[in-house]
Amino acid sequence: MTMGGRLTRLARTRQQYTGEPFQVTRNALHGGDNGHPLPDTTGDQARLEAEVLAKLGTGGQWWSHPLGIAHVRPGPGSAVVQLDSHTRFSRGTPYPRSAHALDRLLPMAEPGVQVAGVIGLRVAGVEGADLHLTLSGSTCRVVLRGVPGTRWEELLDERWHHATEAGCPPLWYSPSLTSHESADIRNHGETWRDERHLDRLGSALLRRVALFHTSSSAYSTRSWITGDEWIFELDTVLGVPLAHDHFLARLMDPVWGLPLGVDRQHCSCGERRDPDERFYLRQCTYHLTYAARPHGGLQLRFRHGSAVYGSDARGTLKSVGSPMKWLDRVLPSSSPGLSAVTGRRRPARGSTGESR
Ligand SMILES: [Zn+2]
Repeated sequence: MTMGGRLTRLARTRQQYTGEPFQVTRNALHGGDNGHPLPDTTGDQARLEAEVLAKLGTGGQWWSHPLGIAHVRPGPGSAVVQLDSHTRFSRGTPYPRSAHALDRLLPMAEPGVQVAGVIGLRVAGVEGADLHLTLSGSTCRVVLRGVPGTRWEELLDERWHHATEAGCPPLWYSPSLTSHESADIRNHGETWRDERHLDRLGSALLRRVALFHTSSSAYSTRSWITGDEWIFELDTVLGVPLAHDHFLARLMDPVWGLPLGVDRQHCSCGERRDPDERFYLRQCTYHLTYAARPHGGLQLRFRHGSAVYGSDARGTLKSVGSPMKWLDRVLPSSSPGLSAVTGRRRPARGSTGESR
């Protein structure tokens, strides 16, 4: 294979993981960031990326891409996260992804309770549609890229005033870690330590966030952390094959994936279906861990059943700009699971939204 042919092949593979446009992946590979076609990171950089994914990846709203992230550009000392445009509330009102991201991420003290948002997160600057985030006392960097026209300064000002008026000191411009934040770490020491075991995993997943779009059969992706386990719940509608082996192979690819192993699993793909399958929800569960690391794992719940989150997921996803090619794959209009209005059988943890 020629050099150009090899580069093209690598660029196409990296696209599957990061979602970047082809020319961007090709240029990144040509520049040879740090020798690996999809570089990973450690330390504060990994922590910041993991915190960003944890806060943005909870689900609860429909976005045009899973988790509301269109693509990511991973570099050795930074990551650029391209946010989707907006979601829609049930009355049809649009709400920008940029505003939603700030609602989740910005740290503010709730005196006597705890710190909301990411402890130690600091706004390092705004350049056009880019918001630069870092951690107190660190040079790590995550750039949240809004859609053209995103007015970060305005959104930040609004939140600053609201927090101040509500008596919750905003912390995102504080020059060092505040007493509120140190107290929160001290008071929730175990949670803090558990979550640090997940930094490497969260960062690696953020750097491969497009897998949930390119390599998963799920129309709905949500995640949350319990103890030192990061749980992802992936919903595939009836009529669309539940292709979890394909997703797992990509996720654990020896070159592009994470060095995870299956600790334990329960696959129910072979089980006989309940005749009344309108209400049947099958789940295959995989627990993955890093070799030789006793703490911090990934749990994947591949669910297969009728559309759980409302009767018009396809219409809603269309209205927030989901790519039609993807929509036709994960929620084809002919899907039998779409016509069954089931409602949710039990509330899913981590749910914050009104529509899913
Ligand atoms: Zn299975």
